[in-house]
This record gives sequence, C-alpha cells and structure tokens, in this order.
Amino acid sequence: MHLIEPVIPTLRVVAPAPAAELLRLEQVTFRYPNGHAAVDGVNLSLGPGILGLLGPNGAGKSSMMRMLATLSRPTSGRIVWKDSDVARDPDVLRAALGYLPQDFGVYPALSAREFLRYMAAVKGLPRGLAHRRADECLEQVGLAAEAGRRLGDLSGGMRQRVGIAQALLNDPQLLIADEPTVGLDPGERLRFRHLLTELAGRRLVILCTHIVSDVEASATTLAIMRKGKLVFAGTPDALLECARGKVWDWTVSADRFDQVCSSYRVSNSQRRADGVRVRLMSPVAPARDAEPVSPSLEDAYVNVLAEAEEA
Ligand code: ADP
Repeated sequence: MHLIEPVIPTLRVVAPAPAAELLRLEQVTFRYPNGHAAVDGVNLSLGPGILGLLGPNGAGKSSMMRMLATLSRPTSGRIVWKDSDVARDPDVLRAALGYLPQDFGVYPALSAREFLRYMAAVKGLPRGLAHRRADECLEQVGLAAEAGRRLGDLSGGMRQRVGIAQALLNDPQLLIADEPTVGLDPGERLRFRHLLTELAGRRLVILCTHIVSDVEASATTLAIMRKGKLVFAGTPDALLECARGKVWDWTVSADRFDQVCSSYRVSNSQRRADGVRVRLMSPVAPARDAEPVSPSLEDAYVNVLAEAEEA
C-alpha cells in the first residue's frame, strides 16, 4: 500500500499512488454544525493491505471512520472508491463495505449463528445465501464450534470475532474496524490482530485505534491524525526513520530527575542504585553520557505528534 499527499505540508512521507488504488481521499473535511473541523483537508490514496489509523482521543478518527462507513458525508472534499464518488453514489462502496463499529450491539439471547443469519437478512442476502455465509464466516473467524452458543455466554474476544464475522458476510473489499480491541485481554487482542492479518489479502482493512501495539505487527501503512489533520502517512519503517537519532538512554542522579522531566519528553524511567535511568526524546544528545537507542514504534508515534504540536 502506498500513499500520496501532495498538499498538506505537515505530512511526512510522499509516495506515488498505489498501482491498485481502491480508496482515495481528496481534501476530505468534516465540520460539525458548530463549525469545528473534526477532519481537516485529509488526502490519502490506499490499495490492499492494513492501514493503522492512529491518533490520540479527539484526533478525528471516529469522524473519519463514519465518513468511510458512509454514515456521514464530507462537508467538503471527496471520498472516491474505485473511481466512484462515494457522496454521489454511496451504494457502490456500501456493497463492498464491512464495518465493525466500537459497539456492535449484541443480542445476548441469540446464538452466534442466529445473529449472523439475522444480520445477513438485514444486509439483504437471500435466505439460502444468508445461511451459507453465516456458517462460512463463523468458520473464517474460528468460531464454527461455537455457532450454537448464545452470544451472552461467549467471551469478549469471541464476541468481537462474531462482530468480524458479521462484517464479512458480504465478502467486503473494505473492512473497517473502530477501536476493535477495547475491552479484550492481551491474549484475545493478539488473536484478533492475527485474524485481521489473515483477512487482509486483497482487501483494504482499516484499523482505527489509539493503541500503537494494536497495529505494530500487522499494519502495512500507518496514518496518524492530530486535531483533524493527517500528520504522518507511510510505512511503519518510515515512521521509525522519523525518530531515528532522537531517542536517548540516560542515567541521571535522583535529584536531577524532575528537572530532566520538565526539560525533555521522557517516555520511561527506572529507578536504579546509581540514579534514574531515563528514556527520552531529544533531537540532539541531552548530555555526553547519554546513549542513542533505536526508537520503538511507540517512541516514533509520540515523536511525530510532539513535532506536529511544535510546528
Ligand atoms: P477520535 O475518534 O480521534 O477520538 P472524534 O472524531 O471523535 O475523534 O472527534 C474529533 C473532534 O471532533 C474532537 O475535537 C471532538 O471533540 C469533536 N466532536 C466530536 N463529535 C462532535 C459533535 N457532535 N459536535 C462537535 N464536535 C464534535
């Protein structure tokens, strides 16, 4: 997956449009009636793969997701799905869309199979096809053996997989998941991330989250939003590159620790016998005895947001 960004100066990576472009955002802006631009002039071009859409709370991710899921329209700019303008012709994208909202409202008394058949009917699948797809999708998310169990009796992770199964009923080419790991335990989160990777293939999967580790292993592309603007778009490696040479390991005496915290962006600290070992972000070495370290994706994410804030 590649991205283009010809317009916004804060965007960090400029790449040609992908050969197999599926989705294009052209100066997409969404304003709430009070005039607040929750999404502000975003340009992106996406092909198959997993896009991790990251940003702190309030960045505009949900507002963006709602537009992509055709639940709202840009107030200006265009969303284009396979050459078709989504605002003008939303049904083209809807037919290709699978959406896992944050809260997909389960019906605890229904079995997983009954729920999927019901959702298939809501999506307009004929009865025979609905029954077949319900079983195929449960199989796809590893829940064939649980098909007859009531949703209320399933674990959070299993319920989330039922949510993915319902999003897959129409074999979507665009799969959108909004903060899908909220409430899952670490094992379930891992399993969920693997599942999304398996499902990517020829699809475009958009995974919206504020947790970097949710997309660390799986995303082929990252897009980072801050205050409605896209402040980074590119590969995870390109994001790491932005922070290279800016992360330091430094052991300071305990009485200097507060001063270091107020002068630098400290991401971690560890008390030790010889002082406090600090991991911090700085464009130049904070001291002669500070050691440069390889940035983690979390470091790089924090760094991009901090630089956007200073810009
Ligand atoms: P995120 O999903 O990244 O947390 P949102 O899309 O929910 O971000 O919100 C983006 C911005 O839009 C925030 O500043 C938020 O306060 C604002 N916002 C969200 N909903 C409304 C609304 N109904 N009216 C006005 N502003 C809103």
